[in-house]
Amino acid sequence: MKKYVLGVDIGGTKTATGIISTGGRLERKLVVPTLADMGLDRSLDQVYRAVEGLLKGSRIDMKKIEGIGVCAPGPLDPFKGIVHNPPNLPGWKDVPLVSLIRKKFRKRTKLENDANAAGMAEVIWGAARGYKHVFYVTVSTGIGTAIIINGRIFHGKNGMAGEAGHATINYDGEDAECNCGNTGCIEALASGSYTVKRLLKKLKKNPGIKTDIIDTAGGEADKVTMATLGKAARKGDKLALETISEQGRLLGIWLGSMINILDPEIIVIGGGVSLLGNLLFGEIRRSLLSHTINIYAAKTPVVRAKLKKDVGIFGAASIFM
Ligand SMILES: [Zn+2]
Repeated sequence: MKKYVLGVDIGGTKTATGIISTGGRLERKLVVPTLADMGLDRSLDQVYRAVEGLLKGSRIDMKKIEGIGVCAPGPLDPFKGIVHNPPNLPGWKDVPLVSLIRKKFRKRTKLENDANAAGMAEVIWGAARGYKHVFYVTVSTGIGTAIIINGRIFHGKNGMAGEAGHATINYDGEDAECNCGNTGCIEALASGSYTVKRLLKKLKKNPGIKTDIIDTAGGEADKVTMATLGKAARKGDKLALETISEQGRLLGIWLGSMINILDPEIIVIGGGVSLLGNLLFGEIRRSLLSHTINIYAAKTPVVRAKLKKDVGIFGAASIFM
């Protein structure tokens, strides 16, 4: 009998739900706004509505659904199924999400943080298929990571492991205050939003620098994103090329340490920033080799994630695979 898993990806802006066959086919999906700023009750209701709507619109027998996998932003407790207090879900404080969803839909339910879930999805259906020891990174607004050892997510004692985005690279760095309260985390040095922030600051300080970056963003500095930088860099813009290469260098320094610690079989990089492709990956590979003592590092593939748009739904579903 064909089996399915229901995946629920709760984000600060939208909640995406989908039914995925164990073979990895997204059979149906439904996305709703999370309405996070309206507080816990309203946003939780949106989650329920999305799942109800998804089930209603699908012809799949509820009995064929193995369970409901939920991924949400951390901090959360994957063992107890509790979402603690994610900054982008205001009002969510110690919410027993697994027991709430299990009661409502009478299905086995599991919870995982979004980076771990995305990493697992890459192992099951994506770029890390066939690998057992995987370091997964998602670089977008922040930097999330997943450590997968022997095909399983490494959770640590309290379920809080794998926060390598907050490894300190430059503890007294200027302009390197991280959202977490620490200074010099790799997230605060090389995530998409921090990279753009620092670039804009540099431009403000040195208005004489010749660059098409602002024009590429339609003339408005606050519309500059990593995608803008990619576009300008492909046209040969020197500042855009320098900025991306600096970001790659920093990520490489950090990944060199990660290879020292984990000796992974493969490193998979996802998130919006990974779309920069070789502009970024070339520099990452170069830089990590001069920051590792692992003599096999040159043979460790550093590849782009395969799952893109629906990675959150696949990630949530992967918790059940
Ligand atoms: Zn941090």
